[in-house]
Amino acid sequence: MAQLAGFKESGMRKIADRMGYTAPMIKQADKDTKPQIICKAKKYNQIYVSACGNVSPCCWLDVEWMPPQQPSRMDYMKKINKFPNLYSESLKEIFDSNFFKEIEDTWNITPLRECSRQCGSFDKLGAQFEN
Ligand code: SF4
Repeated sequence: MAQLAGFKESGMRKIADRMGYTAPMIKQADKDTKPQIICKAKKYNQIYVSACGNVSPCCWLDVEWMPPQQPSRMDYMKKINKFPNLYSESLKEIFDSNFFKEIEDTWNITPLRECSRQCGSFDKLGAQFEN
């Protein structure tokens, strides 16, 4: 079975089919290396705090739990390489550290892989609510 980018498991492929994603749409979403990012966390003025205290703009960037060789985690480690946590620093210290700006700055160069996938030109989450 040909591997669809972003939908590697056959079960996920069936879900994608049911939701009306076509293979070209999914391939385009992953090929787009510099999509326009419309950040949902910014749009709704939200941040994410995990049960373990990790802080990030959204759950998609809480990648510490991912296996080290997972592409989104590898990309995150290359570009950001930090996991701010409320057990080791305050929220003010995290804001003052430029952590959020470092993430945002990637959007003008090569966006974080997970930002491209979740909030890039093809909004696969938002597309579920269309029609
Ligand atoms: S994935 Fe990136 S662009 Fe999307 S909400 Fe999270 S930080 Fe913002």
